Amino acid sequence: MGMTLTEKILAKASSQAVVEPGQNIWVNVDLLMTHDVCGPGTIGVFKREFGAEAKVWDSEKIVLIPDHYIFTTDVRANRNVDILRDFAREQDIKYFYDITDRADFKANPDYKGVCHIALAQEGHTRPGEVLFGTDSHTCNAGAFGQFATGIGNTDAGFIMGTGKLLIKVPSTMQFVLNGTLPDYLLAKDLILQIIGDIGVAGATYRTMEFAGETVQNLTMEERMTLCNMAIEAGGKNGTIAADETTYDYLRSRTNKPYESFYSDRDAKFYSSHSYDVSQLEPVVAKPHSPDNRALARECSDVKIDRVYIGSCTGGKTTDFINAAQILKGQKVKVPTYLVPATQKVYEDLFTQKHEGQTLSEIFIEAGCIEPAAPSCAACLGGPKDTFGRMNSAEVCVSTTNRNFPGRMGEKTAQIYLASPYTAAASALTGYVTDPREFLG
Ligand code: SF4
Repeated sequence: MGMTLTEKILAKASSQAVVEPGQNIWVNVDLLMTHDVCGPGTIGVFKREFGAEAKVWDSEKIVLIPDHYIFTTDVRANRNVDILRDFAREQDIKYFYDITDRADFKANPDYKGVCHIALAQEGHTRPGEVLFGTDSHTCNAGAFGQFATGIGNTDAGFIMGTGKLLIKVPSTMQFVLNGTLPDYLLAKDLILQIIGDIGVAGATYRTMEFAGETVQNLTMEERMTLCNMAIEAGGKNGTIAADETTYDYLRSRTNKPYESFYSDRDAKFYSSHSYDVSQLEPVVAKPHSPDNRALARECSDVKIDRVYIGSCTGGKTTDFINAAQILKGQKVKVPTYLVPATQKVYEDLFTQKHEGQTLSEIFIEAGCIEPAAPSCAACLGGPKDTFGRMNSAEVCVSTTNRNFPGRMGEKTAQIYLASPYTAAASALTGYVTDPREFLG
């Protein structure tokens, strides 16, 4: 019997020829990522269990990324970043993407921004490796053919000390996407479609493997959008087999050797789901669950108060290029917040052009609020002074990944998850809007 891509990675990581779903195995970890929200807790567990003077298992295999609550005057949030900094110095952690000057983040060459996109941009997401992160959207890196999943602080503290973790091998659900993607659809529509079909618990503790010609034709950033939201269906990890697109992306970012794995033809999948993407339409996830899917055009009577384009899911360079396509030469009707995921995406807003104008020129001319400093910002609510935070019972169309009550701040706020096209089109009308109204 063959194995799936994920099973092969886990077999290698546990030094076994074969592993099976349900089997408990010890895996050797290639990379551990933690950030300012969970890092202090992880460090606390590590020190408690391994001793105050203990050294981490490998100072070159831990990545510390302050990204969540960075641009705030909240003292506890700032203290969290200080704890990461002290620990990085104490342990000589090689990859600590520090921010030292919050007032002028551009003067911080080390600062990156949202962990999942920073990991990719800095070349940490390599095929065939095992990445654990103290963040549920660590599954984002599955786009590179990596086994990547979120864990809690206790597991992360254990990895810090040992470089190992005991896990159960997940079974794999296969999602085969074929057909030409219509020019009004984005990866966000595809994943919202899938989550709407299987529900927020539809892939609980399973791998979601995305395959098919549509997936093969997606850019790395769009592939990340698919894998990023595997956790919104309860998935243990999302994954896409590496190919030339993957290698092109990695070439300039890492020179570490890696090994790609592919599901065998006779691999046993838990289930297989096929889509003809040419038949799909732009969708949103209505409040208050990512599986509460509706066609965007069915929600055209939903009046909105703001639009938010940002996060690891919807704040990458491609996401802004897609939004700019719709916003160019138009005027927004509601406050429109732009939060680039990383410092690199921020730079791209001022250098990448669409039809002769930089993305930022297009956004400012359209009346959007000036792009914010790169961070998680209001995706996770955050302290009261967080940029874009929902502080009242407003309605927002957002390119983020979660819309549970209180996710972006105020509990009574309503969040419609959407693609950058749909978010931009909605900004232009003040209602949830199908982007086809503005695309050709
Ligand atoms: S941008 Fe949002 S989903 Fe992504 S890591 Fe930050 S808080 Fe989590």
